[in-house]
Amino acid sequence: CFSLGVMVTMNQRLEADTLLLVADEFGYKIEFSDADLEETDAEEEVDTEESLLQRAPVVTVMGHVDHGKTSLLDYIRKTNVIAGESGGITQHIGAYNVKLENGQRITFLDTPGHEAFTAMRARGAQITDIAIIVIAADDDVMPQTKEAIAHAQAAQVPMIIAINKVDKPNANPDNIRQQLSGLNPPVLVEEWGGNVQAQEISAKFGNNVDVLLEKVLLQAEMLELKANPERSANGVVIEASLDKGRGYVATMLVQTGTLRVGDYVVAGKNHGKVKALLDERGKNLTEAGPSIPATILGLDGAPTAGDKFRVYADESEGKAIANKREQLQRELSIRTKKHTTLEELGRRIALGEFKELNIILKGDVDGSVEALSDQLQRLSTEEISVKILHSGVGQITESDINLAAASDAIIIGFNVRAGANAKELADREEIEIRTYSVIYKAIDEVKEAMEGMLSPEI
Ligand code: GDP
Repeated sequence: CFSLGVMVTMNQRLEADTLLLVADEFGYKIEFSDADLEETDAEEEVDTEESLLQRAPVVTVMGHVDHGKTSLLDYIRKTNVIAGESGGITQHIGAYNVKLENGQRITFLDTPGHEAFTAMRARGAQITDIAIIVIAADDDVMPQTKEAIAHAQAAQVPMIIAINKVDKPNANPDNIRQQLSGLNPPVLVEEWGGNVQAQEISAKFGNNVDVLLEKVLLQAEMLELKANPERSANGVVIEASLDKGRGYVATMLVQTGTLRVGDYVVAGKNHGKVKALLDERGKNLTEAGPSIPATILGLDGAPTAGDKFRVYADESEGKAIANKREQLQRELSIRTKKHTTLEELGRRIALGEFKELNIILKGDVDGSVEALSDQLQRLSTEEISVKILHSGVGQITESDINLAAASDAIIIGFNVRAGANAKELADREEIEIRTYSVIYKAIDEVKEAMEGMLSPEI
């Protein structure tokens, strides 16, 4: 390290780039896993094939504003879809689980929209198995519809299209199917020979919502979602807050294992013994298995949505881990650039660290966005493919930044800039935004960057 000009002591953590260089010097190859923080955790228990049991799908509802996301979630929450239960769920805890007539279960994340979805992904937590994209049949495939689709595709989460508001006299579901087929890449629904399921519904009146849910289950079946309930629980924090009477409350989604009252939980930087476990109706639970959301009482603070949680066998181990995590996170946050920048690109490609350059492209008019998108994709080489994760007309938004953070992408703006909030978020997340007003300049710079020839932006 010293000979490379990196002044460190043996107690210091090194950046990936430095590690690669040093290892190379001594003829070693390094493999990275994204389990940056996991290494401090207890040894991973291995699940046997027999221990894996079917679990409920976890579903997020996304779509353009006013197309009916909230109505759909409310309808499912409030109606008596739960066999044998009277009355619906009245409180909001960030996620709820419903039991259908046939006894099968589905878990819904009760925060509609792709913001929450992508913010979680940016924190490394992918909890959604299936995305329902709600599109109003009396409207068009709108910018946020396209965004939602791009987010689901970037996360490789299968979509089901809910064509909503078909009760309206001016509803035109075919128009929606057609517009979907005209997207780039096209989204072809089953009626149009594709493999994306779609269902016409009326979220407001509940028409065919049951059929939509059956399609969710069908999709879930194809995904063969399984988890081992017989191990100590781990999962993800959905939301957390401070409640006047009860202290810190956190809604957790269990992904594997079973969470029980009395378990010692570490969630992000927080920890504590589970004093009580509640379901979405506020009823006490003794345990929550895979795909089941539960609110827990007993943590020493409010972890962040998207933080992973895990149960530890004994309290002292749990506490030690929580402290180590806090220290690690502090170190990580003072490390240099987290995400890709054009400047670094050439070096990282040369190191073999990079296979794909993800770009989010925003522009002022359709024509230039398409032209730029085409030409950028053509820069792909054998070593590195250029992938346009999302492109659209309009200024650079917070949603673009979140998508970039979740997918390690750079953002290119053509004759558009980032709004103040988006700019602030980009700074915080260290996402690079490059703006251009001449197409060939953008192409040249990306090309130079890929060849490692780009000079720093002044
Ligand atoms: P969100 O912004 O996507 O969450 O949309 P909302 O669920 O808030 O719905 C926006 C508006 O559309 C509300 O006034 C709803 O009552 C209305 N709406 C939602 N679904 C339907 C539907 O199926 N039929 C009709 N006629 N109106 C609907």
